[in-house]
Amino acid sequence: MTPPVSMPLEDIVETKTVQVGTAESRPGEIVYGWFDLAQLPTGHVERLPVIIAQGREPGPVFWFTANIHGDELTGMAAIHDVVKPDLLENLRGTVVAIPSLNPAGLRTVRRVPYFESQDPNRSFPGYTGPVSDPVTAERQQHPPSIYDLAMERLFQDIHSTADYLVDLHCYGLQSSSFTIRDRVLYHKEEELPTANSLYRQMDEMCRAFGLPVVNESEAGRYVDQKLHRSTSGAALNEARIPAITVELGLIGGVDPDALSAGRTGLYNVLKWAGMLPGEPEKIISVPVPEVPFSTRRENSPRARASGILRYHVRPGDIVSEGDLIGTLTDIFGTPVPEFSEIRAESDGWIISLSRGAICYQGQTVTNMAMRDDAPMVEPFPA
Ligand SMILES: [Zn+2]
Repeated sequence: MTPPVSMPLEDIVETKTVQVGTAESRPGEIVYGWFDLAQLPTGHVERLPVIIAQGREPGPVFWFTANIHGDELTGMAAIHDVVKPDLLENLRGTVVAIPSLNPAGLRTVRRVPYFESQDPNRSFPGYTGPVSDPVTAERQQHPPSIYDLAMERLFQDIHSTADYLVDLHCYGLQSSSFTIRDRVLYHKEEELPTANSLYRQMDEMCRAFGLPVVNESEAGRYVDQKLHRSTSGAALNEARIPAITVELGLIGGVDPDALSAGRTGLYNVLKWAGMLPGEPEKIISVPVPEVPFSTRRENSPRARASGILRYHVRPGDIVSEGDLIGTLTDIFGTPVPEFSEIRAESDGWIISLSRGAICYQGQTVTNMAMRDDAPMVEPFPA
């Protein structure tokens, strides 16, 4: 695999000094510091840990971030394992790592910081819609939250320093590891060539990581769900930096197989960017299902009755339309009438099992990677 055409290494002749919070890069060294996130009412300061590892040779600046959802822990462990002093031996360029973007959520093992009400992974700057639109107008009346303000400052550092970004997450109770490929959105027709080239770089980076790649929702749903204001969504669609979201298996603990996949993937993208020697390695610790079509993630199928759910598939299984996914029984173990069998609604593969054993009518049974033919470079929805 070759580094992206837009960034030939020989063009990078000087080592940039990178400063994030109190951490300032030094060639050949790893430094640790803090980025102040917010002043707390108790006099404490909420702050983010920052690690900067800089090789002696000049090269790109790669950002690794993790744990913006406080209960998603494996990415933090992957950063701890990769961004440490021995990374410096062969490193070209600079790695900036933030092992936790949400220390408050990490302390309480909760997705959202206890002083916030909204998903912190929608706090980055991004398009809010046409000003004439009443929904936009209403949205703009909400003053930015403490997290919005902090992420806006952090985003300035990402925007001014990063060449690439990987944001690490976890996905569910029983879940595969995979990479989410966002769509590249643009405003004006003349931005299309740049958007296409950004997409190609990001797509290459997805493949280099080595996990199965699943597309994010199409433009309309993507913006409705504010996914363009996630860490990687904003890096990609606002700062125009190749950026991906990587999901490393289960939430709430560190799965050693997903951790191993995360470590290999982080080394792989550094090799792809020309920052480490060698070729990307195959990930073998977790399933890497291959289907002959592009997929996007969808909540499907849904239960048509309430009951006790028994799964007949595992994360990573490839399924065809009509395959048995699960069965529903009553509390005595007898199949519920009519809707006991839950079957796949399309070809694809199983990303995660959405429930434990209790299932209510209408609830999602699995999250699946399903066929996706929508374009990957699209205008922002009007
Ligand atoms: Zn997450």
